[in-house]
Amino acid sequence: MIPAAYAVLNMAAVAHNLQKVREYAPDAKIMAVIKANAYGHGALRIAHTLAAEVDGFAVARVDEGVRLRNSGVQKRIAVLEGFTCAEELDKLLAYQLDAVVHSFAQLAIFETRTEREEIAVWLKFDTGMNRLGFKAGELQDVYSRLMCCSIIKQPINLMTHLANADDKHDDMTLKQITLFNDTLASFKLEPNSERSIANSAGILAWQQAVTEWVRPGIMLYGISPFAELTGEQLGLKPIMSLHSRLIAVKRIAKGDTVGYGGSWRCEQDTTLGVVAIGYADGYPRYARVGTPVLVNGQRVSLIGRVSMDMITVDLGSQSNAKAGDAVTLWGEGLPVEEIALCANTIPYTLVCGVTQRVKQIESGVKQL
Ligand SMILES: *Cc1c(COP(=O)(O)O)cnc(C)c1O
Repeated sequence: MIPAAYAVLNMAAVAHNLQKVREYAPDAKIMAVIKANAYGHGALRIAHTLAAEVDGFAVARVDEGVRLRNSGVQKRIAVLEGFTCAEELDKLLAYQLDAVVHSFAQLAIFETRTEREEIAVWLKFDTGMNRLGFKAGELQDVYSRLMCCSIIKQPINLMTHLANADDKHDDMTLKQITLFNDTLASFKLEPNSERSIANSAGILAWQQAVTEWVRPGIMLYGISPFAELTGEQLGLKPIMSLHSRLIAVKRIAKGDTVGYGGSWRCEQDTTLGVVAIGYADGYPRYARVGTPVLVNGQRVSLIGRVSMDMITVDLGSQSNAKAGDAVTLWGEGLPVEEIALCANTIPYTLVCGVTQRVKQIESGVKQL
């Protein structure tokens, strides 16, 4: 029997996608970004699959890093949001996690500490994202002050984050890269300091962003960072496929409405299928009518509103389908990028949003 609402994780695709990172950044060290439970794919399973092959990991929060360490991950782990108080810094120390340093408040905490060379840091340079980091004019002073903090291991690495690298026509990216390079060239860095600029879009579209370290996230999961291209078109393979099954099939007559709000009205007699997946599983509430769904491998269209536990589809050409038949919501054979466009969102939110209720099943041989 096909279960309701489950995600298959093709672990063989992990190695394939990592290989793509290497093609674009053959000499760079790889910091695999596995924040937010590896974008919904399971941080521990992705970390342990990649551990022997990458140079480090990045997570957003301290507790995400702690969880990885507790599971036996030994590679360096950078916490992208760093720490906000002394207690959190203590946790970074206890678990040997790297801190991203982006604020004067963090700097002030470091300056009160007397430990010796306990923590590796990534100095975050805000080159235009205007989220975390120090401005160009502040950087030299902050760098010198960090160099004087006994608790910090040398060398201090530098990083920045690109705001719009997924738009190949926006010159903002080159401006950010130039500001990064020019500012660093204007003061004396330790010779073995390393730099990191590129996320997935940077790796794929901006060779100039590839420095000593790259930070791929979405592309590792086989998903494109670009709205106009799918992962498949980039030679990537999706790891996650989201599946469920039909739980009812029925005929509805011309003029009938379907679902909450009665917002969808049948223009002709139709065979309707009810699928056991809804927004409580992470299927997007705002997927529009016509969003493709695979029933027995064939495309049909979403109709009516997405509800908590179910969606409805016009079975169209699949009118012989029956309760129990296989349904794919995205993944192999149906790019998540396409579903994201239909739901007026980005694929990141879809994979991150798959909920606890969805059973996760690994498939494929881990080829690492
Ligand atoms: C999330 C994140 C990344 C990875 O971005 P992708 O677009 O998923 O490749 C890299 N760097 C930072 C600072 C991030 O927050």
